[in-house]
Amino acid sequence: MTATPADVPSTEPRPTYRADGTPLSIQLFTVEGTSHGPYVGLPLRDLWTPYSAHLFTRETAELIVSDMHDDECGITAQFADDGTLTFTVDADAIEPGGTVVVRPDEYGRYEIGGLWPWDEWGDHVEHTAGQAVLARGAAEYRQADDAASVPITLRSWYADGRQEALTLTRPQRVVFFDIDPARTPLRMRPRPTGTYVRRMPTGAFECAVRPVMAGEVQAGDLIVGSFSPPMPQQEARARWSQWSVAPYAAEPAGPWDPACTCDRCRLTGELFGPAPATGRLIMARHDGKCEVWDSDDIALIVPAALRSIVLVHVAMTARPQAALPGSICQWEARDAQDNALLMFYQNGIGRVGALKDNDRWGQNEDDWVGVASFDTGRRGDNDITLEEFCRGAGILLSPSAVPMELR
Ligand SMILES: [Zn+2]
Repeated sequence: MTATPADVPSTEPRPTYRADGTPLSIQLFTVEGTSHGPYVGLPLRDLWTPYSAHLFTRETAELIVSDMHDDECGITAQFADDGTLTFTVDADAIEPGGTVVVRPDEYGRYEIGGLWPWDEWGDHVEHTAGQAVLARGAAEYRQADDAASVPITLRSWYADGRQEALTLTRPQRVVFFDIDPARTPLRMRPRPTGTYVRRMPTGAFECAVRPVMAGEVQAGDLIVGSFSPPMPQQEARARWSQWSVAPYAAEPAGPWDPACTCDRCRLTGELFGPAPATGRLIMARHDGKCEVWDSDDIALIVPAALRSIVLVHVAMTARPQAALPGSICQWEARDAQDNALLMFYQNGIGRVGALKDNDRWGQNEDDWVGVASFDTGRRGDNDITLEEFCRGAGILLSPSAVPMELR
């Protein structure tokens, strides 16, 4: 049992805006007088009272129901197959009893309130270290992911809080792509975000993703996912997007060779037999293994033509000096997805590399993957402005980027 802090009288409406007018957006809730939560909620109104209703995701709604059942407070609740949540109030415990039916909104969020007093979750609520980290993850959802500063055993709490706040505030409807609606209705889920999901490679924006037949994928297209397997017995069974944890650039290498001895080709032959009539192809090869696709399967790609690197932070780290023959221009940069980039210009040639593992800065060539290059034809030239470099490499400099020059 905990008390409401004296400076927040629980009977007064509480603002959902800061003094400077910026919205608080998500807030963390508990049930007054308990140590439940923090429930990540989205207040619906500028001012709320303890009996106001707030929006919660299905995951949080399930947690609320489970905690409520543990408390045996005289209210029970149940989710129906269509997603409807029905609260039943026992008249013996709470007059006059009855039922409250909550239907999820178009984004699957539940408006819950009016049945018990909500209280803001905070330090006055008894909590574990995990709950505190979950609260922090949620509170920092609009900032860069800072899970690295959290003890490793608590990182999943941070990720959960952050993901919950993102899901609640950036709900995304399922998008339908009907390449062939009679055969394959395709349903797109948003790409998961969080500590354990690698960020999209440089230049690849989720809004540019589209489904295409594997046989139509071009060299340089980025393969970011696939769709769940078709069900031959069921004519119009929907197929759901499956995001790849490790996107790769397509380098189509001709038809599949059943005689190839690499693990993937061998397994494909064992599991699926000979190539189908429509063909089977090698999308790319890395580390001696083939990426095998059926030609008529559907790949989720960012087309090469739609990839655009946008720099939001640039720092010049080397500049040619007369006293040092062969010295070059070099910049370190971050793109719009916070990928680390290295850009250098030497002998008339410009190159851009992206760090393979964004959390481990490497000096070796193996640590980087080339993402753009250009040749001015000016042999012996080692000096170029940042603007000309970006034009040459086909990358964009965000207007808010602050290029820092060497002194
Ligand atoms: Zn192979």
